[in-house]
Amino acid sequence: MAWEVFPVTERVQCKIEEPREKSWGSLFLRAVTGLCYQSLMTQPVSDKWIKCISDQGSIRGVALQATQLVRSVASMHHLTGIHAEVLGEALMGALMVASYCKTGEQVNLNVRGSGYSSQALVDAHPDGAVRGYLLPRSREEAFFGEGGDTGPWGVGTLSVLRTKGKPGTQPYIGTVPLVTGFLAKDLTFYWLQSEQVPSAVGLAVKTEGDEVVAAGGFLIQAMPQASLSEIKAIEQNIKSIESLSEDLARDADPLHLLAQIFQNATFMIVQETPLKFKCHCSQERAERALALSGAAELRDILKNERKASIRCDFCTKEYTISAKDLERLLASSA
Ligand SMILES: [Zn+2]
Repeated sequence: MAWEVFPVTERVQCKIEEPREKSWGSLFLRAVTGLCYQSLMTQPVSDKWIKCISDQGSIRGVALQATQLVRSVASMHHLTGIHAEVLGEALMGALMVASYCKTGEQVNLNVRGSGYSSQALVDAHPDGAVRGYLLPRSREEAFFGEGGDTGPWGVGTLSVLRTKGKPGTQPYIGTVPLVTGFLAKDLTFYWLQSEQVPSAVGLAVKTEGDEVVAAGGFLIQAMPQASLSEIKAIEQNIKSIESLSEDLARDADPLHLLAQIFQNATFMIVQETPLKFKCHCSQERAERALALSGAAELRDILKNERKASIRCDFCTKEYTISAKDLERLLASSA
């Protein structure tokens, strides 16, 4: 029972029908409807994810808004247009996986494709921290399947590595082929195949000129006790979203997105987490990485360049390892 991913084109507004019962959730949703129209004039929503669960506990969801995050990471890596869009999808996809991980766990998303990116690597944590980069490919060199009909990621693989917080525990790795080349759709296959959870995923990044103007998405998952009618209702609501990116450009609040998806189904907010870029590179890690190249290489650098430069792929920070530090590394590697 895999959920279809919404079609994307045009339209918005939180169209929420009159609640059938005046339960707490229904009243809450009615309040949200009012907010939707007001929000067009309010301050931009800061980057965050909001997690919720239906009052029966049968459907859970997370919606996120990550415009500033995606904009700043894309600009850090000098990526624009379609390359900024695919990077944004990967960052948000990893955050969605991380949002359902336990404290201390880490998610590594690794997408290898034939499309606009040969590889995207993203690390995300359940506290909303993320870092990532991608190796872009030009339009001329990109390949979109035999029929030329896959999405921007082309054909390839999608791997998710989940590392437990406790030392000594085995990481969990799930790999699925990129079937459609649309990351949102291929993530639904990942959740179904690797974790046996029927899911609906939406990811959207909108760019104008060289700038990311909207980035957000949602993940909705059916728990084993979810009834077919509940699933169908949510599915219908998701299908009514004609253009997620246009919707987000007009109203980025993840709460409004959840209200639009759940509509008459009452839900409770269980968590709201700010999103942030965070890289854990350091001088010490750069030195350790350099030391892995071996004593002969270190001696060679010391003899010729007298210093080494190492650049962090995730945050682009440059580390310089001086002759003195090279000598110390050599001494400790002996
Ligand atoms: Zn870094």
